[in-house]
Amino acid sequence: VSFGYEDIAASEKTARVGGVFTNVASKYDLMNDAMSGGMHRLWKDRFVRRVKPRDGEQILDMAGGTGDIAFRLAEHGASITVADINPAMLEVGMDRAQKRGIDGLVWTEANAEVLQFPDRFFDAYTIAFGIRNVTDIPAALKEAHRVLRRGGRFYCLEFSTTLWPGFGEIYDAYSHKVVPKLGQLLAGDAGSYRYLIESIRRFPDMEKFKGMIADAGFVQTRVEPMLGGLVAIHSGWKI
Ligand code: SAM
Repeated sequence: VSFGYEDIAASEKTARVGGVFTNVASKYDLMNDAMSGGMHRLWKDRFVRRVKPRDGEQILDMAGGTGDIAFRLAEHGASITVADINPAMLEVGMDRAQKRGIDGLVWTEANAEVLQFPDRFFDAYTIAFGIRNVTDIPAALKEAHRVLRRGGRFYCLEFSTTLWPGFGEIYDAYSHKVVPKLGQLLAGDAGSYRYLIESIRRFPDMEKFKGMIADAGFVQTRVEPMLGGLVAIHSGWKI
């Protein structure tokens, strides 16, 4: 599979992203551990600490995939809706929830760009390692803003660009050489992982993305870099 998708139409990008996640769904959790050396668990823990989910809140975990964020949020008693464009990822998530005895989560198929939820419904919106896969990011941010109540909060966890000198080059070499090989070895699919790496490289840097969140109407936008910005938590409030 080739993913030089610079020139392809928006609908085609969405379809290709769909193909990637259908291919990787069953191996997704294993690959996350392998590629990040288990670090994605720490990033996700920190992310959920920042969200501070509270008992009784309604939280939308967009691009929720196999449930990693949702399971953590649910530990605090919040009501979680897991939404994802890909039914294969949701399927794996529902299976995992059942095996862990976690119930009460709502799992629903949705495209982040056009949500079926009413205005001002949720107390918080989370999206982890999801936004860079969305074709029309400004549209998704607008929808996030629409479905949040006033005083609601937006949190995004995503790969970004590290500002640590030298570290970016090491990471680039690792991601281009090692990640597709791991994908081939563990999931029998180098192409999908090549796409995932490419989508990280193309994602706007921390300040630019923070500006995009503000453009969607959020205030008090913030960014918290981890590993110099290799991974970042962006947040904002709706007033
Ligand atoms: N949030 C989960 C996590 O942190 O483990 C899953 C992240 S996974 C890398 C990215 C997810 O984004 C996939 O499940 C994919 O199906 C979903 N996705 C891609 N484009 C989407 C869109 N337009 N709307 C909703 N979900 C989307």
